[in-house]
Amino acid sequence: MSILEDSKTRVNESRAARMKEERALLSPEDKDALIRKFHPDYKKEAYRTIQIGPNQGEQTVHELANLLEGKSPIASEAVSLSPQHQVDLLIIGGGGAGATAALTAKAAGANVLLATKLRLGDSNTVMAEGGMQVAVSAEDSPVRHFLDSLRGGYMKNDPALLKTLVEEGPEVAKWLMDIGVLFDREADGNLSIRGGGGSSKPRLLRCKDYTGLELMRVLKDCVLNEQVELLEFSPIVELLTDGEGACTGAVLKNLDNNQFIVVQAKAVILATGGIGRLHIQGFPTSNHYGATADGLPIAYRAGAKLTLQDTFQYHPTGAVYPEPMAGILVTEAIRSVGAQLVNVKGERFINEMETRDAVASAVIRECAEGRGVETSAGRRGVWLDMPMVDIVNAEGTLAHRFPNMVRQFSRYQIDIQKEPVLVYPTLHYQNGGIQINVDGESTVRNLFVAGEASGGIHGRNRLMGNSLLDIIVYGRRAGRAASKRATEIALGKLTLAHLDQFREAQKKAGVESKTVSPMLFPDYVKKN
Ligand SMILES: Cc1cc2nc3c(=O)[nH]c(=O)nc-3n(C[C@H](O)[C@H](O)[C@H](O)COP(=O)(O)OP(=O)(O)OC[C@H]3O[C@@H](n4cnc5c(N)ncnc54)[C@H](O)[C@@H]3O)c2cc1C
Repeated sequence: MSILEDSKTRVNESRAARMKEERALLSPEDKDALIRKFHPDYKKEAYRTIQIGPNQGEQTVHELANLLEGKSPIASEAVSLSPQHQVDLLIIGGGGAGATAALTAKAAGANVLLATKLRLGDSNTVMAEGGMQVAVSAEDSPVRHFLDSLRGGYMKNDPALLKTLVEEGPEVAKWLMDIGVLFDREADGNLSIRGGGGSSKPRLLRCKDYTGLELMRVLKDCVLNEQVELLEFSPIVELLTDGEGACTGAVLKNLDNNQFIVVQAKAVILATGGIGRLHIQGFPTSNHYGATADGLPIAYRAGAKLTLQDTFQYHPTGAVYPEPMAGILVTEAIRSVGAQLVNVKGERFINEMETRDAVASAVIRECAEGRGVETSAGRRGVWLDMPMVDIVNAEGTLAHRFPNMVRQFSRYQIDIQKEPVLVYPTLHYQNGGIQINVDGESTVRNLFVAGEASGGIHGRNRLMGNSLLDIIVYGRRAGRAASKRATEIALGKLTLAHLDQFREAQKKAGVESKTVSPMLFPDYVKKN
């Protein structure tokens, strides 16, 4: 029998005893000690000081610091800044936040151009599985949602941003249903609402285990139906400013012919998403190939301040085996309906409903202390006891509620209804990002940011389900505020003066970067 099979047998044998076991949540002191010892955010050698720009003197991981201090792909003198497009609003990013901002701005009467790196909808949004947190049940309230999120974020959340997020949740859920999102319902027709890690009440609206796919299906349809002007395969490579601190447009790159496209806009909304493909500290990732943090260095060079740029979310349950699935997410919702985490000895080692940072730290601890399972490819992980879901609930629960998960593993002849799967933390989310106010405006005038590229809402640890809510709430707010701004101002001067200033700062600080940012794609998918 192989080591994997042997260890799997122990999971099956210990199941009956584990099912009777009550495991309390960790005390605040024990949780703190666990995270400080094992969470990747606390690995000092993974961090360095940022040497230039608005966050000079603060810390972030090497991978992000290199991009922030990196070189622009364009030389100021070599680009003609005559615009090919002149619009009220340029929205960058074709995921949930960008699409929502575009729809809202268009409805407000703005002339909108939506530019995205790949195709409309190629994004992290489309991959979201577990659901969206909204306080809509009778036993719940936005206040509870606020407190849970604040506790989850270690009180580092921007209170005004968080208050707006939770208060606008119910209205946003209604908007999504009005435009056609089909959230799961109970037999009586009421919304089906489930619990999630770190939440004191059931609060998750979802569409089986493909919530993001359903959201994006509807948003994409609306963007197309509303005839929003769209530029696909046209990533942003630099912002344009008026030389006096305000954003006035952007330079895009046409990926078909490598030519630059200059867009003049009264306001710009960055909705470029997350950082998973930086593979911080060598972690695998749950993110799509375009999640290369592009918005951050671009906004930074234009003078936008970042916040909480030193904290990242490692989702506790990324697949480890089979090798082609490494890093792919196994939704947290599976733990919330009973699947337990089990080490090589068949022992449970954490309450699965702890916040993500605590669960991830516990998995890392088990593996670091020799209680993990090693695969033939040299990866380590612990077991997630999937068959428990059907045993604890009812036969067929996995197939009914998690069809996406069942299908993904079945492609490799793994039947999750019958066998556990190996998991290890996967780089999932950037907790921080570009600092915004409640209208989504950054510290650069007329530069708005929505979705995962922004920071502050989630503190140092986002609660499950709060990102899907964030992208819709702040996509709408940024769309509304930016289109209002466009009615108040004229198109501005187009310059790359901020780049010259940035290069001056690089020289002064002795920063000689070889890194070109934005990176656009990870090295392993670059073709030329
Ligand atoms: C596997 C997975 C499961 C998840 N499950 C959940 C969940 O259940 N609940 C929850 O709340 N959250 C979940 N999340 C997190 C959530 O889905 C994301 O944080 C959120 O959808 C991000 O939305 P966004 O619009 O900000 O970014 P994205 O949806 O990633 O969109 C960003 C867009 O910007 C484009 N882009 C990137 N760079 C450039 C550039 N240089 N120029 C132009 N365009 C660019 C991208 O191609 C993409 O279209 C999950 C994430 C993943 C990866």
